[in-house]
Amino acid sequence: MPAAPVLEVRDLRVEYVTTRGAIAAVDGVDLDVHEGEFVGLVGESACGKSTLLFAIAQLLSPPATVRAGSVVFRGRDLVTMTDRQLRSLRWRDYSVVMQSAMNALNPVMSIGAQFEDVLAAHTQMSGRQMSERSVEVLRLVGIDPIHLRSYPHQLSGGMRQRAMIAMALLFTPDLVIMDEPTSALDVVAQRSLMVQIKDLQRRLGFAVVFVTHDMSLVSHFSDRLLVMYAGQVVEAGPTRTVFDRPAHPYSRGLLDAFPSVRGPRVPLTGIPGAPPDLARPPAGCRFHPRCPVAFDDCSHVAPELYQVGEAQARCLLHAPDRPAATAPTVGDEKDEAVEDEAVEHEAVEHEAVEGEEVRR
Ligand code: ATP
Ligand code: SF4
Ligand code: MG
Repeated sequence: MPAAPVLEVRDLRVEYVTTRGAIAAVDGVDLDVHEGEFVGLVGESACGKSTLLFAIAQLLSPPATVRAGSVVFRGRDLVTMTDRQLRSLRWRDYSVVMQSAMNALNPVMSIGAQFEDVLAAHTQMSGRQMSERSVEVLRLVGIDPIHLRSYPHQLSGGMRQRAMIAMALLFTPDLVIMDEPTSALDVVAQRSLMVQIKDLQRRLGFAVVFVTHDMSLVSHFSDRLLVMYAGQVVEAGPTRTVFDRPAHPYSRGLLDAFPSVRGPRVPLTGIPGAPPDLARPPAGCRFHPRCPVAFDDCSHVAPELYQVGEAQARCLLHAPDRPAATAPTVGDEKDEAVEDEAVEHEAVEHEAVEGEEVRR
């Protein structure tokens, strides 16, 4: 029998209570993450990615509130736990890496002091054991342990993100939740950090939920991909499948929104229009005002997640009662040039320069 997922999110609904009414930033999301699995979560700005991650980690603060659903981590529902119970799990069993280490790290404490704070709060380690563990995790992410004495501003952006990742690995948790940890970095540092995260994940065996709006970034690293639009999952499936044969027109649009370095030059089409106001999402399919293949039903029938081969897509084109012959197509398969390029990117990633400057 396959092992139960490390994380099982079921029908999760998170609302922000505002003067304009409730904004359902996460609306009926299901998500399973298995041991050692790397799950990528992609979507445009404001589609609810961070809200979902914060809800999983139970780090939401007002006006956000979990209205419905469950977040079962290792068999226990985090939504119903007390703060004290959650504190005993955070860092040890699951940890979170935020978008900006500069905001997450304390600017007036050295990196080493911050590591020891976390260790002291969760263990009975002696000072010497704490310092040994701090040295160990900093080495894991390729930073000279001398920087335990450095303050966040003395490190480059990439090193700060690595220090955050080292901190998240102090206890080798089962799950590391990452919210765009590479987005503040330049492309080379971004790829290099991705390679390192993947390498650590393979070696240490933790599962990852990784949020980004750049589908190409996670395409080489994640086992599964979830595409979010307007608070809902619109496509989910093995990364290769979603990348090569996107079943949802929105996924196709996201893929067309990044440039191809090799292959013929084609205009970037992207996705016209903007995501909807979540206080008043469109009726029917939430994507219909922007969808290039929308048809009559789309404006009043809300699609469910339908099985499409190994993936699932929230699109009426894939509704089982819709005759396949009448369904417009989402688009051609992602072309071979882009696929080749993905392989090439991977090669480049392995050559990425690891050393980074230290500002003194
Ligand atoms: P980004 O890629 O820009 O980080 P995101 O996908 O992480 O976006 P969220 O930050 O989760 O999106 O926001 C989802 C929705 O919730 C947005 O429509 C946003 O306007 C709304 N929202 C977020 N924070 C608040 C808040 N404090 N009060 C009201 N609405 C909020
Ligand atoms: Fe486009 Fe209709 Fe599918 Fe929505 S349901 S994605 S509008 S074709
Ligand atoms: Mg976000």
